[in-house]
Formats: sequence, structure tokens, C-alpha cells
Amino acid sequence: MSSTTFRPDRLDVRAFAQNAAQLSGEITLSKLERLAQDLYRQEADLALKTVNWQASGESVAVTGGAAQSWLHLSMQAQIPLQCQRCLQGMTHSIETEHSFRFVKDEAEANAQDDDAEEDLLVASKQFNLLELIEDELVMALPFVPVHEVCPVPVKLQASSEEYEAALNEKPKAFAALGELKSVLKKAKP
Ligand SMILES: [Zn+2]
Repeated sequence: MSSTTFRPDRLDVRAFAQNAAQLSGEITLSKLERLAQDLYRQEADLALKTVNWQASGESVAVTGGAAQSWLHLSMQAQIPLQCQRCLQGMTHSIETEHSFRFVKDEAEANAQDDDAEEDLLVASKQFNLLELIEDELVMALPFVPVHEVCPVPVKLQASSEEYEAALNEKPKAFAALGELKSVLKKAKP
């Protein structure tokens, strides 16, 4: 079987591993529906933004057992997101490399999941690699995207240090008010 017969949307993962085959591609972000929901559209034309990915298969011999099928997946993408501090657009760079081992079925995955350091996937002759790529991208997104340094001054947002300082200021302000009141009383005829 030549590597040209492998399709990323219907991948025979065991054959892919046994052939030590390789696949790579480019997907526009707008085609990844689940991911696209989280993206910042105003500034970025999602149709022009792409994720680049490379996959390779590996068959690992096991003494006294069936060979293991592995999939190594790398991805690179620049993801447009909205900063939750200043609400401007920002770019989140993703560069990941993951290895997955295929197991026979869900039961085997559950049985081995606790002991395995690698991620386990259920083997299939029609494995959707594109779905895995989207899963990985969604998981690589920050929970709360924020700029390291926002490009514009942020209004109505106190840093925790400023908040602390404001709390400490309060008693002083009240004390000052108290002093003012007593001064006013004294000033009254
Ligand atoms: Zn920001």
C-alpha cells in the first residue's frame, strides 16, 4: 500500500502505522466549526488563517504480543482570539507535538488509561484524523485569553495590587472624613 492511498478523514490507523506512513496538510480555520466559535472574527479573516499539521505512523514491536500502532501528530497555527482584558484581537501561537497509541476498543482504553502516559485512541479503519486535529486545537486554546501586555490602556480594571491599595486607603478616607466632621462641628458657632 502506498502512502498516497491514506486519507486523513478516513484513516486506516493500523495500516498507517505498519507502513510508517506520513501525511501532512493545511486546514483553514473557518472549516473547523467547533474551533471557529471561539475565534475572534472582527480582525482576522478566518478563511486565510490555516493550521499546518503533520502526522506519521509507527509500529512498535511488543515481545509476546501484537505490535502497537502509534500516531505522532504535530501542528502549527496562529489562532485569532479576543483578549478578555482589553477586548482587542490577539494572536495565540500553537505549536504542539503529541503521540497517541491505538488500542482495540473503549474497554481496553479505559483499562489502560490510568497506567499509560501517552494518550490512547480507539483504533479504526476509518479514523478521522481531522477531528483529532480540531480536538487538539480546541484543547490548546487558553481558558481565558489575555495579552501578555495589552496594547491599549485598560479602563475599569484594577490590578490586584491597585485593589489591595484601594482597600487600605478606605479606612484612611473614613478617618479623614471623621476629622473633617469634627473640624466642622468646632467651626459651628
Ligand atoms: Zn489585551
